[in-house]
Amino acid sequence: MISQYARALLIACILLPTLPAAHAGQSRPIPLANGQQGCLMMANLLSSISQGDCDLVDFGVADTGTVQQRPILIGEFPARRVLPVDKRPARVLLLGGIHGDEYSSVSIQFRWAEQLASDDERRYHWRMLPCLNLDGLLAGPATRVNANGVDLNRNFPTLAWESRALPYWTQQTGRDPRRYPGPAPASEPEVQWLVEEIAAFKPDVIVSVHAPLGVLDFDGPPPPPPQLGMLHLDRLGAYPGSLGNYAGRSLSLPVITPELHYAGIMPTDAQIAGMWNDLIEWLDTHVGERDRDVEPRPVLPDWSLLLAPPETLLLRW
Ligand SMILES: [Zn+2]
Repeated sequence: MISQYARALLIACILLPTLPAAHAGQSRPIPLANGQQGCLMMANLLSSISQGDCDLVDFGVADTGTVQQRPILIGEFPARRVLPVDKRPARVLLLGGIHGDEYSSVSIQFRWAEQLASDDERRYHWRMLPCLNLDGLLAGPATRVNANGVDLNRNFPTLAWESRALPYWTQQTGRDPRRYPGPAPASEPEVQWLVEEIAAFKPDVIVSVHAPLGVLDFDGPPPPPPQLGMLHLDRLGAYPGSLGNYAGRSLSLPVITPELHYAGIMPTDAQIAGMWNDLIEWLDTHVGERDRDVEPRPVLPDWSLLLAPPETLLLRW
C-alpha cells in the first residue's frame, strides 16, 4: 500500500509534462531590445562600430523583430532646410546588413550617420536601417541568410515569384543554401516588415549596401549614377525576389546598390567620403525637392438643405 505522499508524487509526475504545454499558449512575447541595446550588440561584434557611434544616433526599433526576436534598428534624420509650402524634402532609405555576413555594409551606415548628424543643411529626409538581418550578423559565425536559412534578398514579392524564385534557385544556383529564397514570397518577418516600411515611408530613393563584388548596381527609372566613389556602374541584372527587382521594377523606385569590395574590411575614409559625395550629387541632380502630396479636399455637407424654403422642409417632415 502506497502512502499519501507517494500517491501525490505519482499524480504530480503524470500531470507535470502537461503543465508546460498549458503555459505555452499563454507565453508572453519576448520584449525586443531597445535601439541602444541593439546597437551595442553590433558594436560588441564589429570593431568598426564604437559605443560612441551608438550614442550618436537615437535609434528606434521596428515593431516587428527578426525571426529570433532581435530588433530592427531605425535611425531618423529629418531634413533641416526650410522649403516652400508646396515642396517637401525627398525621402531616402539607407539599408545595410540584408546579408548578415557582409559586415562592411553595416559599419558604413555609421560613418554616413556621422555625416548626417553633423550636416546642419540636411536637404533630404533620411531613414537608416543599419542591419536588417541582425540574426545573421550575430549567428557566430555570421551567415548570409536569416535564422530560417532564407536569403532575404531573394524573398521579396517580385513579379511571378512563385514560378521564378525556386526554379532559379534550383537550376541556376544548384540549390545553394546561401541563396535559398524561402518557401513563399515575403515569408520572412524581416521582409514582411520592410515591405510595409517602404509602403509607409514612401522613399523616393533606396540605397542598399552589399559586399564584396566591388561594383555599383542600379535598378529603377532615372539615369543611374555612373559611379559612387571607387565603385563603377555595372548592372548585375534582376534576381527573382531581390530588393532591387521588387522596389526598382515592381514599384518603379530607384534602388542604388553599392557593392563594396570587401565584406570584412572597411573602405578608407577617403573612399567613404567619395561615395557619399557622388551620392549627394546624384540626389541633387536627379531627385531634389519633391512636390508636396496634395491632401484631397474634404467633402462638405449639403448646405442647400438648410437654405431650402421652410415649406419644403415641412413637406419633407
Ligand atoms: Zn549581399
